[in-house]
Amino acid sequence: MRPAHALIDLGALRHNYQLAKQLSGNKALAVIKANAYGHGAVRCAQALCASADGFAVACIEEALLLRNAGIQQPILLLEGWFDAAELILIQQYDLWVVIHHHGQLRDLAEIDIERPLHVWLKLDTGMHRVGFKPEEYVGIWKALQASSKVASLVKMTHFSRADEPDCDTTQHQLLCFNETTAHLDGPSSLCNSPGALAWPQAHGDWLRPGIMLYGASPFNFAQKSAARLKPVMHLNSRIIAVHDVASGEPVGYGAQFIAKRPTRIGVVAMGYADGYPRHAKSGTPVLVDGQRAALIGRVSMDMLTVDLTDLPACGLGSAVQLWGDGLPANEVADWADTIAYQLFCNLNRVPRHYL
Ligand code: PLP
Repeated sequence: MRPAHALIDLGALRHNYQLAKQLSGNKALAVIKANAYGHGAVRCAQALCASADGFAVACIEEALLLRNAGIQQPILLLEGWFDAAELILIQQYDLWVVIHHHGQLRDLAEIDIERPLHVWLKLDTGMHRVGFKPEEYVGIWKALQASSKVASLVKMTHFSRADEPDCDTTQHQLLCFNETTAHLDGPSSLCNSPGALAWPQAHGDWLRPGIMLYGASPFNFAQKSAARLKPVMHLNSRIIAVHDVASGEPVGYGAQFIAKRPTRIGVVAMGYADGYPRHAKSGTPVLVDGQRAALIGRVSMDMLTVDLTDLPACGLGSAVQLWGDGLPANEVADWADTIAYQLFCNLNRVPRHYL
């Protein structure tokens, strides 16, 4: 069998969820959209079942996958519905919905509902992606509150820069949220992972942690609470070929790497078809038998190459970690001009083994 695989530590996932809960002392919806950021949504939901207050996903397909696997906790559709016909399924599968635009209000008014909906009403406090404007929010809230089609309402917004604690955008968003919703009774939800970790004054009643559940910090600096997270995904493989090249010889597609000295090359079974970032630069760290080596040359579809010259004990069959407990995904992401979110979500082809 090809040695490339992702080891998913469900104990670490549970630990990270508990950390989110401890931070606020309130409820937390585990955000497991995009196949739990590449970690496997059903397995992650099952692992969190006993402790999670609920789950959040992006769309109905993701929610049905969970319901059909027997997940009974509340599931929130973060984008609401895309098509009025989904409202039937939303009731049938007992899903919670975010309402964030007028088309959804029209759908709700026009469609007969058998069971009233649990609604999270989204306020745009400055991100300007989705949500109602502050000046229209209170009126919409009151109309929904009076509607027999609505069972409960949660006040909700989303932060655009909570990972930048020195920037005042989050303060402005929080102020806008508090001022707009001051006279509306009901629970509130504002925080994604950076909000949960760094903005205790914004915690509200429901956190919505995503990336922190998977053990990656949302910050690009050392942050105290984030230091307690445990990585969940360990992307592993092995050296499948070793050879020597003379100084001046190129390695890989496009001759992007030219050896500056006699170099021992290790070939790793891992490529961009597995989700390893093709744009990772030469020098990106890789662990070989627990020691740091550098990626050299272009990442190919199924393989990548590392410099083993200074690691004489490593060779054919040596264990390789691309990211995980010994090498933070954030560090690899930096070398590829991306973020850990994308590394995880892009995981492809490699089998997942669960701990
Ligand atoms: N809440 C909403 C509305 C989101 O769209 C997301 C993710 O994009 C999250 C929470 C979770 O964010 P994070 O992964 O940064 O915790």
